[in-house]
Amino acid sequence: MEKSLIILKPDCMQRKLVGQVISRLENAGLKPIACKIMDLDDDLLREHYAHLAHLPFFPEIVEFMSSTPVMVMIFEGENAAERVRNILGPTDSQKAPAGTIRGDFGLDKMRNIAHASDSKDSAEKEIARFFK
Ligand code: ADP
Repeated sequence: MEKSLIILKPDCMQRKLVGQVISRLENAGLKPIACKIMDLDDDLLREHYAHLAHLPFFPEIVEFMSSTPVMVMIFEGENAAERVRNILGPTDSQKAPAGTIRGDFGLDKMRNIAHASDSKDSAEKEIARFFK
């Protein structure tokens, strides 16, 4: 069984979409095995989004991701990382197909509802980062 780390972002929390996002993952046969609500601080965000730290909009991402508490979850299932990414859709909500979480609920590139690990390897690192 593979695991994936999911973060329900501030837009998801504020717009009361938590239940719907979790339902979509559960309905696809993915099982929640860990969950906590937490504030993401600068250090954790710099580590988690290190691949974006050089980009001009990085401060906006940090501001957005720390604007409200988020829900951090682990889902388990066969091929979990790839399957969750497919259910979530691409980064840009405007380009995400209807039927994906970002396509149906996301607003733009930043406010795109949830983070999900992009591979089995990333999932292992991210789970260690968020569930110490
Ligand atoms: P993903 O979340 O799909 O894995 P990335 O790792 O590239 O995508 O980016 C991480 C997060 O940074 C995105 O989910 C989004 O919230 C934000 N982001 C990425 N690209 C942009 C952009 N061009 N403008 C604003 N925010 C962005």
